[in-house]
Amino acid sequence: MERRDVSVAIIGAGMSGILTAIKLREAGIEDFTIYEKADRLGGTWRENTYPGIACDVPSHLYSYSFAPNPEWSHHFAPGAEIQAYFERVARQYEVDGLIRFNQEIVRCAFLGGRWQLETERGERSEFDFVIAATGVLHHPNLPEIPGLEGFEGSCFHSARFDHDVPLRGRRVGIIGTGSTAVQITSALVDEVADLRVFQRTAQWIMPQENPVYDEAEKAAYRDHPEQMQRLRDDLSRLFSEAFSNAVVDADSPQMHLIEETCRANLEQSVADPELRERLRPDHRAACKRLVISPDFYQAIQRPNAELVTDGIERIEPLGVRTRDGRLHELDVLILATGFQADRFMRPIEVVGRDGECLDSKWADRPAAYLSISIPEMPNFFMLNGPNGPVGNFSLIEVAELQLAYALQLIDWVRSGRCKEVSPSADVTERFDAERTEAARNTVWATGCRSWYLDDRGIPAAWPWTFDRFREAMAQPDPAAFEMA
Ligand code: NAP
Repeated sequence: MERRDVSVAIIGAGMSGILTAIKLREAGIEDFTIYEKADRLGGTWRENTYPGIACDVPSHLYSYSFAPNPEWSHHFAPGAEIQAYFERVARQYEVDGLIRFNQEIVRCAFLGGRWQLETERGERSEFDFVIAATGVLHHPNLPEIPGLEGFEGSCFHSARFDHDVPLRGRRVGIIGTGSTAVQITSALVDEVADLRVFQRTAQWIMPQENPVYDEAEKAAYRDHPEQMQRLRDDLSRLFSEAFSNAVVDADSPQMHLIEETCRANLEQSVADPELRERLRPDHRAACKRLVISPDFYQAIQRPNAELVTDGIERIEPLGVRTRDGRLHELDVLILATGFQADRFMRPIEVVGRDGECLDSKWADRPAAYLSISIPEMPNFFMLNGPNGPVGNFSLIEVAELQLAYALQLIDWVRSGRCKEVSPSADVTERFDAERTEAARNTVWATGCRSWYLDDRGIPAAWPWTFDRFREAMAQPDPAAFEMA
C-alpha cells in the first residue's frame, strides 16, 4: 500500500502542544500547524505566575524524556523556570517559529473526511488530523459569591495574577485552601501587612521540603547524563509506588503512611489546639488532591495571618463579610478557587462525522476511550483529555505516552490501512463502565468534594495504576476502533 502524507492541526502551544510538534516532525510529518490563542507558549505555566508557584512533581520527572535538564535549580522547580524550560525546548527543536499566536480556534467540524478548523477571526483551514492539546486546569472557576463585583479593592483569580497590584504592607485575602492558595499564603505572608485565608474545607498537608540542586550536582548531571536518567527512573518509580499507585487503592499500606505523615505534620506543626482543630480535615488524606507544603502551617501561625473558617456570607465594597457578622476589610482579594476541570477543549465547537457536536455528546459529562478519542470523531485525539491519569502523575509522561499511541493511529492512515479511525461506541461505553466501577476503590471516592469528582460524585480520573496506563498506551487494539 502506498503511504500518504497527512496534515495535522495542533490546538494549544503548552507542554503537550510543543511535545506534539516535536514528535510529529520526528515521525516525518512536516505538514502541521500549531494554533495558540495567547501571545506566548507555555499553557499552565504561562498563565499561572502567582507568588510561590512551583510544581509538586519532581523537576527531573516533570521534564520531557528527550530533553532532560541538568540546570533545574530545585527538587521542585519554580513556575518561571518551567516556563523558561518549555520556551527553550521549543526554540531548540525549532518549533517555536511554527506557532500561530493569537489565533483561537472556535470551531472544528469533520466534513468530507477532513477536519475544517475556524479561527476567531473567521479564517478557515483543513487538516486530516486534529490533536487537542488544550490542557486540563485551564478555565478559572470564579466563585458565585454575592457582591463579588462590588468589591472596591483589587480582585483577581490566581491564574490571572495581577502583578501591577502592590501587595507589600497591604491587607490581602485569599479564598481557598488548595495547592494554589497554600503556595500563595507561604509566599506572601512576610510581605503583606495582614493576610486572611478563607478556608471552606481544611486540607491535609504533606510536609515536603524543596531543596536546591547545588552547582556540583548540576555539573554532575551536565557531565554524566546517565546519572540524570537514573535519577529520573528512580523518581518515577518512587512517585508511582509511594503515591500514584497508593491513591487508587484507598486501603493500601502506602495510603496509610501518607495519612500518618499528614496527621503528624498537623499535630507537630500547629501549637494552638483550637487552630489545630480548625485545620483538621474531616476527610481522608489524598481524598482531595494532596497539598504539598513544607511551611503552610508555619505561615498561617504568623501574627499577621488569620485562618478564617466562618463561611463567607457576601463580599462588600470594603471586604469579606463572614456568617458570624465580621467584616474582614481588605485591599486585595485573591480567588484561589480552582478550575472548571470538565471543560477540556470547550468552548471550541467540535462537530463529529455524525453531525453531533461535542457539547451534546458530553451533555452528561466528558468521556473518551482511554482518554484519547471519541466515537464519531475520527482522526481527532486529545492529550490529557477526560478520565486520564491526571493529578497524581507527571502530565508530561502522560502526554508522551498518549501521543505515542495517537501516532500509531495516525500511522494506520499514513500507511493506507484506513482513512478514518475512531473508537467504537461499544468499546468506549465498556471502558467508561469499567473505569467508573474501579473509581469506587480510589481514595478520591472516600467522602470529600474535589475537582476529581464528576457531577455524580464519581472520580473522573484514571482509577488504575500507572503501569496499567502504560500498558494500555503501548499499542492500540484494532478491535476497539472503527476504520473507514
Ligand atoms: P482547588 O484544588 O480546586 O482548590 C480550590 C479551593 O477554593 C478549595 O479550597 C475550595 O474549597 C475553594 N473554593 C472554591 N470555590 C469556593 C467558594 N465559592 N467559596 C469558598 N471557597 C471556595 O484549586 P487549586 O488550588 O488552584 O489547585 C487545582 C489543582 O492544580 C491542584 O489540585 C493541583 O492538581 C494543581 N496545582 C498544583 C500545584 C503544584 O504543583 N504545586 C499548584 C497549584 C495547583 P473546597 O475545598 O471547599 O471546595
